[in-house]
Amino acid sequence: MSGTTEDKVTLDEVVALCKRRGFIFQSSEIYGGLGSTYDYGHYGVLLKNNVKAEWWREVVQERDDMVALDAAILMHPRVWEASGHLEGFTDPLVQCLGKCKKRWREDHVREQQLGGEDAEGEIRCPECGGELSEPRQFNLMFETHMGPTKESGSEIYLRPETAQGIFVNFKNVLQFARKKPPFGIAQIGKAFRNEITPGNFIFRTREFEQMEIEFFVTPDDAPEWHKRWMDERMRWYTELGIREDHLRLREHGPDELSHYSSATSDIEYLFPMGFSELEGIANRGDFDLRQHAKFSGEKLEYVDSASGDRYVPHVIEPSAGADRAMLAFMVDAYDREEVEGRERVVLRLHPRLAPVKVAVLPLVNKDGQPEKAREIYEALRGRMPAEYDTGGSIGKRYRRQDEIGTPWGVTVDHQTMEDDTVTLRDRDSLEQTRIAVAELAGELERRLAEPWSSPKPR
Ligand code: ATP
Repeated sequence: MSGTTEDKVTLDEVVALCKRRGFIFQSSEIYGGLGSTYDYGHYGVLLKNNVKAEWWREVVQERDDMVALDAAILMHPRVWEASGHLEGFTDPLVQCLGKCKKRWREDHVREQQLGGEDAEGEIRCPECGGELSEPRQFNLMFETHMGPTKESGSEIYLRPETAQGIFVNFKNVLQFARKKPPFGIAQIGKAFRNEITPGNFIFRTREFEQMEIEFFVTPDDAPEWHKRWMDERMRWYTELGIREDHLRLREHGPDELSHYSSATSDIEYLFPMGFSELEGIANRGDFDLRQHAKFSGEKLEYVDSASGDRYVPHVIEPSAGADRAMLAFMVDAYDREEVEGRERVVLRLHPRLAPVKVAVLPLVNKDGQPEKAREIYEALRGRMPAEYDTGGSIGKRYRRQDEIGTPWGVTVDHQTMEDDTVTLRDRDSLEQTRIAVAELAGELERRLAEPWSSPKPR
């Protein structure tokens, strides 16, 4: 019998699993580590790649109103003047004047201690209870220098968001993509922010990957498209297995809105530390294109060749974090249950997200079973990520696969040697069915294409 025993997942458990199974390592670990910076190991790379591939599939491949872009991380410094980042990409920093001298984000401390980012009242150091300094605005952009000398004027920035790479290419794309509004440009890439208080594992780091869309529409249609994108993006997470009641849409209040935005809603996930932002969906109006037109001198507008109408499109921006999404998928998937008196940890990931789809295991390490299992594995791995494992007892090998979220296991046993059938084990139900080797790949591909929902309780 199997049954889920406990739904509450702690971040520590997920961190421990990531370490134990080589998903994620501390960066520069042999030098003592670099704070809140992480390296992705084998399964981490495969999982994050699957998250990004599902995003590409949904927002580019399965639409005909979106094109892809991959802009450089380094951009002309004037970009950040035009975008408002040089002036306004800041967080309010307060420092403890008591014992610990730690630095904090004032808005976060207000939220924690007074229930709102802008709530009035006294706040104290969350670590030692000391008094806090007056806030000062701290710019989050990482600055570096281009060229061999550090002279003034050579400063450039690591991009704090991928979005600006899209806006500055608006004209190029319009020329080559043969699209007219409504149409979008999608991009995945690294972004860097010198966060005051990074933390919660890969939830908030100083280097991370964003998956961003800028969707250009006629000004009148912007509110409707904003709503549409909120629905589409919510659906993406739920179709990939995130339980609906662990997701919510939260509209920004007027005080919270960024300088460019007329409306923003966040998709939030119920992380172990509470509901927190997974993705922001903003209606940016025509702010960005107008700013870049002003600063660059280029006309950034759409001219309808039939009617001769010209206008600056408005922009809807669904902006997600690939690492944050990966963390949400892992937290939502993490489960423990008792099976025949023993606890097993299992990642109940959507099969399309799972790093490995199938593990092929010989029951015993003799009687031709390892060779047969290897042969089946080699036939499968060209069609889907597969693993072949002979090390340790069959129970131990399955526990390993459960922890990395492998949805299906194939066992080669003595009967296989007689009739060319294997057992196919389901990660979630633990059901085992007998199937002919010749039908295996087709059956797995059929299962991979099926809709899936989490067996974890709502
Ligand atoms: P926050 O208020 O949490 O600092 P934000 O509203 O500034 O976030 P956006 O600028 O809207 O975040 O970024 C879009 C997405 O990029 C976020 O929803 C998140 O998924 C991801 N993201 C932003 N900052 C980080 C970070 N420091 N580490 C990891 N992911 C991040």
